[in-house]
Amino acid sequence: MRSYATRMATPADLPDREERAAALEAAGYNLFDLDADRVFVDLLTDSGTGTMSDAQWAALHRGDESYAGSSSFRRLREAVDDVMGFDRVVPAHQGRGAENVLYGTLVAEGDRVLNNTHFDTTRAHVAANGGEAVDCPVPAARDPDADDPFKGNFDVEAGRARVEEVGAENVPVVVLTITNNSAAGQPVSVANTREVAAFADDIDATFVIDACRFAENAHFVAEREAEFADASAAEVAREQLGYADALVMSAKKDGLSNVGGFVAVDDGLDDLLERVKQRTILYEGFPTYGGLAGRDLEAMAVGLREAVEDDYLAHRVEQVATLGAELAAAGLPIYEPIGGHAVYVDAGAALDHISTAAFPGQALACELYLEGGVRTVELGSFAFPETKRPEYVRLAVPRRTYHREHFEHVGETATAVVERADELAGFEIVDEPPMRELRHFSADLRPLDA
Ligand SMILES: *Cc1c(COP(=O)(O)O)cnc(C)c1O
Repeated sequence: MRSYATRMATPADLPDREERAAALEAAGYNLFDLDADRVFVDLLTDSGTGTMSDAQWAALHRGDESYAGSSSFRRLREAVDDVMGFDRVVPAHQGRGAENVLYGTLVAEGDRVLNNTHFDTTRAHVAANGGEAVDCPVPAARDPDADDPFKGNFDVEAGRARVEEVGAENVPVVVLTITNNSAAGQPVSVANTREVAAFADDIDATFVIDACRFAENAHFVAEREAEFADASAAEVAREQLGYADALVMSAKKDGLSNVGGFVAVDDGLDDLLERVKQRTILYEGFPTYGGLAGRDLEAMAVGLREAVEDDYLAHRVEQVATLGAELAAAGLPIYEPIGGHAVYVDAGAALDHISTAAFPGQALACELYLEGGVRTVELGSFAFPETKRPEYVRLAVPRRTYHREHFEHVGETATAVVERADELAGFEIVDEPPMRELRHFSADLRPLDA
C-alpha cells in the first residue's frame, strides 16, 4: 500500500460565501477566470497540476542547460526507452506542441484522421492542417451505465466502414488515445490496440498512440484483461505502446511533471523522425530540448519511471474512485465505471429542469464553487457547442496532491447542492470569443432568473 507524505505545504483557504459570490460574478460565471487563490479544492484539470516527488525535485538540480546534446536529454531518452520502449525521442513544451510537430508532418489538406475519440487539442491540430477528425468510439462509450471494462476502445468496424467511404489513400493516420480522455477517461485494451495496429497496417496508415495517460491505462489492463492478470503496469505499458509507429505525449499527465511533452518514433521510420526534428526546430526548439529547460527534462525522466510503479497507480486510481463514491453518495449521477483521472457527472440528469440551451453543466459547476469553493469544468454543450454530448461536468484529480479530507469536502458540497437542485437556474452567454470551439475558456455568462 502506498501513500504520500507532504513536505511542502501550500495553504488553501475557503473564502466566505459573499467572497465566493463576488468572485464568481467578477469572473463572468466562467470558472477559468477565477483567481486560483479563491479556490479551495481545484479539480479543474489533472494536467500539470500534480505534486512532484522528492526524487523529481532532486533531479531538477542537475538540469544540464546546454543548448544541444545535454545530459538531461540523454536521461530523458533513456527513461522513455526503458518505460515506453522508444529510443527516438523529440521533446516539446507540452502535449499540443508535440501534436503540432507530429500532425503537421503527417496530415495534409483533405485527409481524414481516425481516432477512438479526438481530444480537443488533437481535433484542433487535425483541423489546422486541413484534415477532418473522425471519431470511432465503441458504442458503449456513449452509455454512462454500460458495464464494459474497456469503454475507451476503438470501433475498428466503424473505422473500416469510414475507409471504404473515403478511400485508404485519404487516411494517412490512425490514432489511439489511451486512456480515452474525451470518453470519460475510459481504458483501451491491449487486444483492441493489436486490432487497431493491424487495421492501420492494412490501410498503410501511420499508427499513433496518444500516450498522455498510458500508465493509468496499463493499470486498468492489468486489472481487467485476463491475458495480463499477472503482469505489472510497467510490462503492460511496454507491450501496449510497442504496437505504435509513433507516440505523442503530454508529460503534464502521466509524466508526473508540471510541464513538458514529446514525440517518440519507432526504429526504421527515419524519414518521419527527420521531419519531426525539422518541424521541432521551427516551432519548439532544438530537438534535444524542444522548448523546455534542461531541468524540466530531468523532472520528466524521473516522473515517467514513477508513473508506472504499481503502488503509485493503485493510489492514484483509488483516489479517483474515492471522489466518485463521495459524489454518488451525494446523489449525483456519475459515469461508470469511473475512469483513471476524473469523475464525470451527468448534469443534464441531475438538473433536468434546466434546458440544454441554458447549460445545466455550467449551472452545476458554478454552484459547486459557490457552495464549497470547488472548481470543476463543464464539458457539455457550453464547451462543445456543435457536438451533441451529454451535459458532463468533470472533476479531475491532480496527482499526489489532495487527501481524503478534500474529497469529503467535495462530497459535502455536492450533497448541499443536490438538496437545492430544484432551485438552480441556467445561464446565458453575454460575451463570447470569435472562435466558438474555444468559447468555454473565455466567454462571460449571466444567470437566468430561477
Ligand atoms: C492533455 C492532452 C493533450 C494535450 O496536452 P497538453 O500538455 O495539454 O498540451 C493531448 N491529448 C490528450 C489525450 C490529452 O489528455
